[in-house]
Amino acid sequence: MEKIKYLIIGNGIGGLSAAREIRSHDKEGSILLISSEPYLTYYRPKLTEGIFEDFTVDSLLVYDESWYKQRNIKTLLETTVKKIDIDNNIVYLDDSRKIGYEKLLIATGSRPFIPPFKGKDKEGVFALRTLQDLNEFKEFLKSCNTVSVIGGGLLGLEAAWSLKQLGKEVNVIEFAPYLLPKQLDRELANRLEEKLNSLGLRIHTNSQVEEVLGDGRTNGIKLNGDKVIPTDAVLVSSGIRPNLDLIVDTSIEYDKGIKVDSQMRTNVENIFAVGDVVEVEGMVLGLWTVANEQGKVAGANMVGLEKEYKQPKVFTTLEIGDIKVFSAGDINNFDRIYEYKDSSKDIHHKIFTKNRITTGVILFGDIKDRNKFNTAIVSQLPVEELLKKDDRFKKA
Ligand SMILES: Cc1cc2nc3c(=O)[nH]c(=O)nc-3n(C[C@H](O)[C@H](O)[C@H](O)COP(=O)(O)OP(=O)(O)OC[C@H]3O[C@@H](n4cnc5c(N)ncnc54)[C@H](O)[C@@H]3O)c2cc1C
Repeated sequence: MEKIKYLIIGNGIGGLSAAREIRSHDKEGSILLISSEPYLTYYRPKLTEGIFEDFTVDSLLVYDESWYKQRNIKTLLETTVKKIDIDNNIVYLDDSRKIGYEKLLIATGSRPFIPPFKGKDKEGVFALRTLQDLNEFKEFLKSCNTVSVIGGGLLGLEAAWSLKQLGKEVNVIEFAPYLLPKQLDRELANRLEEKLNSLGLRIHTNSQVEEVLGDGRTNGIKLNGDKVIPTDAVLVSSGIRPNLDLIVDTSIEYDKGIKVDSQMRTNVENIFAVGDVVEVEGMVLGLWTVANEQGKVAGANMVGLEKEYKQPKVFTTLEIGDIKVFSAGDINNFDRIYEYKDSSKDIHHKIFTKNRITTGVILFGDIKDRNKFNTAIVSQLPVEELLKKDDRFKKA
């Protein structure tokens, strides 16, 4: 049986980033990346633009084949790991081979969460996670005029805009009373909704899909309150769930995602985990940058160095057409708001403070100062310091 020094399950950015880090410290040890997908690691976030832009697989790849060859990083594509035998350090593959390992990294990512509405298996209901999903969706879209996106989060809104640019009529169905409740307050969320509607999207907040209608193929959706919206296709964008199937029957600890320490080590000494499959402070983050950073940390620790992962403060940027929005920090737990408004330029900025410390910010319209505000939040800057040379902001 073949034995690999560093075995990595999943070649998303988490797995790739770990392989890169391992090779930069250990020039000799064997590295094998195994993936169920048939492609080398590609930029998954670019799938959203891929809805309306033509692309080649090569243009999406993080590195081409020669990069792997030069570094002697081996890949095994279109192959799924079916089982991990923790006691004997062996993985079993779907082609009935088995491979031994010294150190194992689980970087199996996540899959879309599809809420349990009726008709979710009808033809015309899609979720976008892989290049294969995108190709199938695009093929189906050729015979569609109207598409409904279920979920008005960041990814849902970006996908809706791509569909609009492709020339489709687009509905966005959002369960919450207003868009992006973690990132925006009601006033600015309403402003965003108006602007998205003026770009031609049809936003339905406070709405829940109860059923996808149609005889075999989708022809409508039924919302709460028996409202029916005709639609030719549905794109579900309602969050993710970590791919835990491989570990649920093992002694690896998990809750929402795999539990890891600050070195990205699971409770099993020689097994690490990174990316969308892990939980950090009780949350599954689902971000490219986080998986990339965690991969670096795991890679370093797998070769025996000591590196710690520090959870960065998460911020959000949304750019759709000429709409620009930036949000960072906590905008729901404050005792004062400072505001700057320039209606002629459609700019509205809000700074949220608690005990005079800058805790959150929303920049609407003009986001060029986002780094300055983000740094103020990360460093917990007193608001007087932040506004020392800026007399535009007034207490709200
Ligand atoms: C459409 C879209 C847009 C996005 N946009 C953004 C964005 O703008 N910004 C951002 O920060 N993030 C974005 N993300 C999220 C980002 O892509 C993910 O956080 C990131 O890809 C996670 O990387 P990962 O390595 O953990 O897992 P993944 O990228 O999910 O890769 C895991 C791989 O493991 C494989 N695998 C799973 N189980 C097995 C097994 N048993 N055997 C073998 N292989 C297996 C899977 O097939 C997959 O190829 C977006 C995601 C999508 C889908």
